[in-house]
Amino acid sequence: MPAPSSNAFITESSSASGPHHWIFESSADCVLILDPRGEVMVINGNGMLALEIEDEAAVLYQPVGQLWRAARADAVATALEQARGGGVGRFTSTAPSRSGRPRWWDVTITRIQGDEKSLEGLLAVARDVTGMRQADQQLHRSEARYRSLVAASNVIEWDAPASGQFETVQPAWSTFTGQRFDQYCGAGWLDAVHPDDRARTERTWSAALRRRSPYVTEHRLRRVDGVYHHMLVRAVPVIDADGVLREWIGVHIDVEERRGVEERLRLLDAMSEATRNADDARTVMAVTTRMLGQHLGVTRCPYADVAADNDRFCIRYDWTAANARSTVGEYSLDLFGARAAATMRAGRTLLIRDVDQELAGGEGAAMFNAIDCKAIICCPLIKDGKLVAMMAVHQDRPRNWSADDVALVEEVVERCWVHIERVRATEALHEADRRKNEFLAILAHELRNPLAPMRNGLQLMKLAAGDGAAMVKVRDMMERQVQQMSHLVNDLLDIARITSGNLDLKRQRLELASVVAAAVETSMPLIDAGAHVLAVELPETPLPLDADPLRVAQVLGNVLNNAAKYTPRGGRIALSARRDGAMAAIAISDSGIGIPESARANVFEMFAQVGDSLGRAQGGLGIGLSLSRRLIELHGGSIVLEESTPHGSTFVIRLPLAESAAPTAGTPLAAGTDAANGTAPLRVLVVDDNHDAADMLAALIGAVGHDSTVANSGAAALSVLPSLQPDIVFLDIGMPGMNGYEVAQQLRAMPALTQPVLVALTGWGEDKDRARTSAAGFDHHLIKPADLGTVERLLAQTAAAVAN
Ligand code: ADP
Repeated sequence: MPAPSSNAFITESSSASGPHHWIFESSADCVLILDPRGEVMVINGNGMLALEIEDEAAVLYQPVGQLWRAARADAVATALEQARGGGVGRFTSTAPSRSGRPRWWDVTITRIQGDEKSLEGLLAVARDVTGMRQADQQLHRSEARYRSLVAASNVIEWDAPASGQFETVQPAWSTFTGQRFDQYCGAGWLDAVHPDDRARTERTWSAALRRRSPYVTEHRLRRVDGVYHHMLVRAVPVIDADGVLREWIGVHIDVEERRGVEERLRLLDAMSEATRNADDARTVMAVTTRMLGQHLGVTRCPYADVAADNDRFCIRYDWTAANARSTVGEYSLDLFGARAAATMRAGRTLLIRDVDQELAGGEGAAMFNAIDCKAIICCPLIKDGKLVAMMAVHQDRPRNWSADDVALVEEVVERCWVHIERVRATEALHEADRRKNEFLAILAHELRNPLAPMRNGLQLMKLAAGDGAAMVKVRDMMERQVQQMSHLVNDLLDIARITSGNLDLKRQRLELASVVAAAVETSMPLIDAGAHVLAVELPETPLPLDADPLRVAQVLGNVLNNAAKYTPRGGRIALSARRDGAMAAIAISDSGIGIPESARANVFEMFAQVGDSLGRAQGGLGIGLSLSRRLIELHGGSIVLEESTPHGSTFVIRLPLAESAAPTAGTPLAAGTDAANGTAPLRVLVVDDNHDAADMLAALIGAVGHDSTVANSGAAALSVLPSLQPDIVFLDIGMPGMNGYEVAQQLRAMPALTQPVLVALTGWGEDKDRARTSAAGFDHHLIKPADLGTVERLLAQTAAAVAN
């Protein structure tokens, strides 16, 4: 703007009659004449209106900056200075308005020249640019929105002239590929396309250019991080009304993620399909690792179970590419190095793209190098807070794993584990079922075994009734067989009681040595039969226990019997006990045949037997150790197979020591009673609906010199009682019609009867059963089959009482 000149301009502009005044007032802008210092001399009417100034006097002689207070003072000063120097000064600012919305002003200041080229004043023209600025802002905003949308939607937008070569800057292309303009211009963009897709892309793009038809294709494009992404490409020609092809506009849509998801789902589906009918864990592992390994093109794909100690892991199966070595075996997680092991235990995937770079010199590198592994994804699987399994993929060269690769391995390990667990549960069920069937077969066998000699024995008794020596032999044999059967039935009943939670321990303070003595006593016949040598070593300081002496002796006896049974003739058996912290530890070792590795995990399982049980000479039901473990666990202790080789085994039993070493009871055997030798025979009534059982007991009682009578029902018993006046009655509880309790109650209510000693005979021996018999009036409670020794003792006690 040329500088207006002369003083006359100012005078004329302000005088209503001057020609400049008319121009001045008709201007739509706000026009101000300032004195050389920048104070307002004149303001036009439109300016007053626009700035909403009601009283001209309020602005006259004020510095121009007063009208635009929001303007930076230095910007205003600079503009004035520039104008004074003959240039064009300029500043932009807002000014408040009555509407509350500030308006934007663009203020230009120029010099008013006097005749002598002196500075007469300054001319300021302020233009309301609010509308323009808003439009500008809106444009900016909408561009920014568009850019964000494009960025978020994985779309690269580009344009090219009719030639199809890049000639202008393509910001989105550059951002995605990292190519600079000089790299992508012309046909340079093809360098970012995957080498395998390049020729096809070039060919189809040229064809589209020739035909001027829309272009649709797919190819892989290298992202700035070097990872290729699948792209869906679409471009259309923009053709003018006169038919001239002006330009091409196109988009590259990144479909990598979608493709990844689709591919993953396809593979997972195929895996499910391929393993659907697999009913063993090995097949599931084999198929899954093979499919995953081939899909990812890796060198190896192992699947491992992690042991309960959170450290050892066992690679049960690994798929390997041709020429790669298998890594099946057992390892420690610490081989990975502390950092990697901690990552895995915390349930985070271990991702190594280059072993030598990332683990340089550190832990883990040696292990991976030893198996030719340079890159690895290893996914841990955490269940209930514990590391339970891992699946890995190994590559024999560094590899830039993608997020999809990781997601895939993670998904596969989870699915594979679930499947394997299901298969294992089914396998376990089948195994339990198989063991049960085998057990039933053995049980039948075991029960039939004693029957044959017993039948023969009976036969012999008939034929050789008068032959005393033959009778003794037959009796001994039958006694052995009956004992074996009772033992077996008792073990079974114990298992049933423990399983149903009905086994009560009769705990008492005792000394371990006394229980050991009792166990050794019962096992001695078997140890002697095998001509084994037994060494017992007990500490000098006693080991007090709060335990059920019979049950602990039963367990020690079981383990000793096994040692005797599974040790070839003339072996060595040792029992030693020691204090181990708050526990007593009893080790029982033998020089026997040992238990093969494969069977060790199962020996404490119900019906577990090693090898072909039916054919074994020792015969056994495979319940001894299972029962032993349950009994020891009821005591809060443990039993483990500590060691087993083909030259012997060692079992260790641990039991909690009693809290204080209070005086201990001795061997928990009932105090012996004096035999009623020489006393008058007792009158004994035996009541049992089982004729044989009643007759047998009566015969035994007769054999020790007492008079016995048999009644086979409650009613029969009650009818003979008054005349018989027995000294002692052995009364069966479970009888049809009137049971033992009812008979006892009626007996106890008979006034004409001298009350006899009343002994219950029952299969049930729990505290509650004893309480019930006692409430019904019984004096004693015997568990069937009653042991002759106990019967004799009761008879002796009664005889002694009667004699007094
Ligand atoms: P069983 O009645 O068959 O002896 P157990 O439960 O006591 O049942 O033992 C289970 C199996 O463990 C046995 O069948 C036997 O194969 C094996 N076993 C137990 N103890 C020993 C041992 N000391 N030496 C070798 N094998 C043993």
